[in-house]
Amino acid sequence: MNFHQYIEKMPKVELHVHLDGAFVLDFLFDLVQKYGGDPEIKSITDLQNWFVFRDFPHFIETWFWKNRFFREPVDFEESAYQTLQEFSRQNIVYLEAIFSPWDYKESGVNPTDIARANQNAVKRAQSDFNIHCRLMVDITRDHGHEHAMDRLDEITPFLGEEIIGIGLGGSEQRFPAHLFKDVFIEAKRRGFHCVAHAGEVVGPESVWSAIKDLETERIGHGVRAVEDPELVEYLRIEQIPLEVCIVSNIKTGVYSSFNEHPFAELFHKGLLVTVNSDDPTMFGSSLADEYSVLYQNMNLTLPEIRHVQINAVESSFAPMDEKRKIKDLINRFWIDNALSITND
Ligand SMILES: [Zn+2]
Repeated sequence: MNFHQYIEKMPKVELHVHLDGAFVLDFLFDLVQKYGGDPEIKSITDLQNWFVFRDFPHFIETWFWKNRFFREPVDFEESAYQTLQEFSRQNIVYLEAIFSPWDYKESGVNPTDIARANQNAVKRAQSDFNIHCRLMVDITRDHGHEHAMDRLDEITPFLGEEIIGIGLGGSEQRFPAHLFKDVFIEAKRRGFHCVAHAGEVVGPESVWSAIKDLETERIGHGVRAVEDPELVEYLRIEQIPLEVCIVSNIKTGVYSSFNEHPFAELFHKGLLVTVNSDDPTMFGSSLADEYSVLYQNMNLTLPEIRHVQINAVESSFAPMDEKRKIKDLINRFWIDNALSITND
C-alpha cells in the first residue's frame, strides 16, 4: 500500500473538528432540498463549489449560509450520526468534536435541543460504529461576552459523559479572548475542560491571552505563536498542546502555501503539536490528508508522523486507561503494517 492508503487505514485521533463543518455533503444537499432549495445549488457539485473561500470573512459568511438549512433537532442528530459513521470509515477511533449551538438563531432551534441531539448521535454512533466521541461546546466569540455566562449556564446541565468542555471559536480579531475570562474561569470551576481558538487570524498576543486569561488546556490552531520566540519557548516548556489544522489554514488564507506553514518548525522545536481537520467538509479534506501533508509537503519521517499521532492521544481529554488502549491500537498497527508502505 502507498503512504496515503496507509494513513487512511491507520487508527487516528482527532482533537479539533467542528460538527457544524463536518456534515456529510449529501446530507446537507438533502436538507437544502427539504427546506425549499437555493437557486444557486442545483447539484452536489454546486454545493461542493460553494465551499471555496475568498478569505476568512467569506468562510464565516458561508458557515451561516449552510446553518439556515438545519431547522429541526432531527437534522442535527442525523447529521452528527452520519458524520461519525463517515469518520469511523476513515478509521478515526477517538475524537473530541466542537459544536456551536447558538449559531442557529435564524432556524429557531433551541441550543439545548441541539446539545441533546448531538449527545444522542454520539451515543448511537458509539454503539453502532464503535467510535468514541466527546463533545466541546463553542461559546462563540461573535455572540459577544455580555451574555456568555448565560450560555455557559444553559449548557452546564449537559456536562457529563458526552459533553466535557467548552471552546471559543469565531472572530478572534473582533472579540479578544480576555473578554471571556470570567466565563472560562467559572467553566473550569464547574468541571468543564477549556480550549480556545487562538493564534489563527491574530498573532501571538491572542495565544498569550488564551493561556493567561482563559487558562485553556489546549490551543486551537496556535500556529501564529511562531512569531514570538518567547511564546514558542513557553509552549515548549509547558507542553501546551496545539491543535494545528494545516489544510484549514491554507483554505482560509492564514498561510498561502504548505512551504510557508510553520508546523514543521514548531514540531522540530519540540512543541506538543497535533494535526486536525477543523471543518473537513467545508474544506474538502480529511484527517488523513493532514497526515499526508506532513509526509509529502513537510518531509516528516514515518517515526515523526507516529510521534505526531501519539501527541494527539496524549493531548486528548481521555482518561489514562483509554489513552493506553488507543496507544496500544496505534502501536500494534505500526508494528503490523509499517513495512508494507510502498513508494507508488
Ligand atoms: Zn476550528
